[in-house]
Amino acid sequence: MPEIEPIPLSRLTTLQTGAAPERMIDASTREELVDALRGTWERGDDWFVLGGGSNLFVGDEPFEGTVVRILTRGIERLDAPEGRARLRVAAGHDWDALVAYAVEHGLAGLEAMSGIPGTVGAAPVQNIGAYGQEIVQTLLEVELIDAATGEVSAVPAAELGLGFRTSVLKQHYGSVPARSAVILSVTLELPDLGHEPHPVRGEQLQASLGLAPDALVTLAGVRERVLATRRRKGMVLDPADPDTASAGSFFQNAIVSESFARTLPPECPRWPVAPDLDPVLVIPLASFDGYVPPPAPRSVDVKVSSGWLIEHSGFSKGFALPRSRAGLSTKHALALTNRGGASAAELAELARYIQQRVQSEFGLVLQPEPVLIGVEL
Ligand SMILES: Cc1cc2nc3c(=O)[nH]c(=O)nc-3n(C[C@H](O)[C@H](O)[C@H](O)COP(=O)(O)OP(=O)(O)OC[C@H]3O[C@@H](n4cnc5c(N)ncnc54)[C@H](O)[C@@H]3O)c2cc1C
Repeated sequence: MPEIEPIPLSRLTTLQTGAAPERMIDASTREELVDALRGTWERGDDWFVLGGGSNLFVGDEPFEGTVVRILTRGIERLDAPEGRARLRVAAGHDWDALVAYAVEHGLAGLEAMSGIPGTVGAAPVQNIGAYGQEIVQTLLEVELIDAATGEVSAVPAAELGLGFRTSVLKQHYGSVPARSAVILSVTLELPDLGHEPHPVRGEQLQASLGLAPDALVTLAGVRERVLATRRRKGMVLDPADPDTASAGSFFQNAIVSESFARTLPPECPRWPVAPDLDPVLVIPLASFDGYVPPPAPRSVDVKVSSGWLIEHSGFSKGFALPRSRAGLSTKHALALTNRGGASAAELAELARYIQQRVQSEFGLVLQPEPVLIGVEL
C-alpha cells in the first residue's frame, strides 16, 4: 500500500489551508484504492478521501487520521443503446478532461459543466452542476465501496439521493453523510449528437452564454463559451488568477419556502425548485376499502441567489476584514478566497461575519457548500 510522507493539505486543496495529516496514502489503481480503504477501516482510523481538493475547507490543526488520495485514471467505453454512449470513468480522473473527451467525441450532456475543477468520483457527491446542467441528468450508476462492510457494489443513480448540491454521500456542515462510502468509478450515458450545430437547450444556459433561443451551436462551441464565461468570474483554476484560490461558491444558494421568499426584496433573483416526483401511495390490499385519499398538499420551495443577498448586506466584491488575508473574490461575491497564506481561522472569521450580516439583514443563515473538516463556523 503506497503510504507516503504526508503532504500539507494547504498544497492539495484550492482554498490552500490545512497542515499535513497524520497518515496519507496514494492510490493510483482501483486495487490500491480498495486495499487502502479496507486497511484504514480495519485499523479504525478517522479518514477521508481526497480528490482534487476543490470542495474542501480544512482546519489549521493537523488531521489525526488517514487521508486517501484518489489518483486512479481512465475512461472505458461500454456497450450502449443506438445513438448513445456509455462511459465508465475511474474516480480519480480529472472532471474537465472527461468533459473535453465527451465534446471531442460528439457526446452531449456535460459541455455546460466545462471547467469545474476536481475529479469524476467527487462529482456525484454534491451532484455538480452549472448553467442548468447537473450530473444527475446523465449519471447511470456508480461503483461504491461501503465503509461499514468493505463490500463493492454497483449502485444506480436513483439510490444516491441526488438533489441540489447534495447526495447521500455528502457531508453537509454539522451532520454526517447518510451513507459512508467511496465511489470507485462512475458510469454515464450520453446522447451521441456528433459535431453538427444544435439548438442549445435551457434558458439559463442560453442567457449566460448570450445566445438567442433559436441559435445553433456545436458542443465545442458551448464548451468554449462556458470556459470563457467562467474565466471572467474566476471560476476556472488558474495559478495566475488569485481569485481562483477558492472552493468555488463558498455558500449555497439558499432554498427557502415560497412564503419566506415573498419577504425578500423582489429584485433578489430566485428560481423555482422542481418538486420531487409524485410519491407513490401504497395501500395494503387487506385494508383497501375502495377509497383513495387525495394527494397531500405540497409546499413549493424557491432557490434564492446567495450572491445577491451577500452584496445587498453591504459587501462589495473584494471585501476583506482589516489585516485579514482572506477576502471575497473581486469577481464573484459567493467565492471566499485565500489572498496568500490565509489560515483556516481567517477564512472562517470572514465566513461567519458574512453569515451574521446576511442573517440580520434578511433573516436567513447561509449554509457552506464545501465539506468542512476540522473547522467550525
Ligand atoms: C474555482 C472553482 C469553481 C467551482 N465551480 C463549481 C461549479 O460550477 N459547480 C459545482 O457543482 N461545483 C463547483 N466547484 C466545487 C468543486 O469543484 C466540485 O464540488 C468538485 O466536484 C469537487 O471535486 P474534488 O475532486 O476536488 O473533491 P474534493 O474537494 O477532493 O472532495 C470533496 C468531498 O467529496 C469527497 N470525495 C472526493 N472523492 C470522492 C469519491 N471518489 N467518493 C466519495 N467521496 C469523495 C471528499 O472526501 C470530500 O468530502 C468549484 C470549485 C472551485 C475551486
